[in-house]
Amino acid sequence: MKARKRFGQNFLHDSNVIHKIIEAISPKPTDTIFEIGPGHGALTSMLDQATADLTVVEIDRDLAANISNLYPQINLVISDILKYDFSAWQPTQPARVVGNLPYNISTPLLFRLFTTLEKISDMHFMLQLEVVNRLAAAPASSDYGRLSIMSQYHCEIEKLFEVPATAFMPAPKVTSAIVRLRPKQNPIKATDEKLFSEIVSAAFGQRRKTIRNSLKPFMSSEQLEKAGIDPGIRPEKVSLNQFIDAANLISKTSSGLTT
Ligand code: SAM
Repeated sequence: MKARKRFGQNFLHDSNVIHKIIEAISPKPTDTIFEIGPGHGALTSMLDQATADLTVVEIDRDLAANISNLYPQINLVISDILKYDFSAWQPTQPARVVGNLPYNISTPLLFRLFTTLEKISDMHFMLQLEVVNRLAAAPASSDYGRLSIMSQYHCEIEKLFEVPATAFMPAPKVTSAIVRLRPKQNPIKATDEKLFSEIVSAAFGQRRKTIRNSLKPFMSSEQLEKAGIDPGIRPEKVSLNQFIDAANLISKTSSGLTT
C-alpha cells in the first residue's frame, strides 16, 4: 500500500474500527451516500453493500482507477473535493456525507459543506481528535473558539469515539476521532452572516484580550451589554447565541432600526 503524504493518505486497516464506524453511520438501502476520499475502499465496500446510491470523490488517480475496477457500479468522481462544484451537485435526496478525511483539508472542507447544508442530511467524519474536540467544545473550555462557534451555528455536533493511530496504515502521529454533524433543523440565524463571521473572527483573533477590546472596531461596551455580554470577559466565555445577538444588534444599528 503506497501512501501519498500530500494527499493525507492514512488507510484504515483495523476491521473492528471499520465496523464500528459503519455501525455509527448505520447506512440504509434507501440512503444517498457521498463519500470523500475512498482510498482503498475500507469504508466504501461496506457503504456499497448497504446502498445503491453511492457517490465517491477521490483526488488520487491511481486509487480512483482501483476503485473503478473493484466497484464499477459506484458513481466515481475524480476531483479535488475543495474544487468540487457543490452548487451543481444534485443528490436525489439530502445526502449522507462520509469521510475519513485528509487532515490538511478538513477545516476548509467543513466550511464549504456549511454552504450547501440543504442538500445534506448528516455527516460522519474521521478527523484529528484535536479538531473534533474543537468542533464539539462548549463555552469556557480551552478548545472553544471560532471553529466551535461557526460549526455549532450550522450543525448539532456529537463526538462519537476516538480511534488510535494504530488503526491506520501508515499510522499518523496523532489520535483521531469520529464526529457526527447534523444540520440544525431550526437554527437561530444572524441577519448578516458575513458580519457575524467577522465578529467571531475578531473576537478570537487575540484570545487573551477582553471582548470589549477585540470588538472595539464593531461595537461599544454599552452595545455589548445590550447584547447580554459582559464587556470585561474573554471571548471563550461568550456563547453562540450571544455572538448572534451581538451581530444582530450591530446590523440593526447600522440599518437605523434601533430605538
Ligand atoms: N477512506 C480511506 C480509508 O479510510 O482507508 C482513505 C482515507 S485517507 C485518510 C484520505 C483519502 O482522501 C485518500 O484516499 C486521499 O487520496 C483522498 N484525498 C485527499 N485529498 C483529497 C481531496 N482534496 N479531494 C478528494 N480526495 C482527497
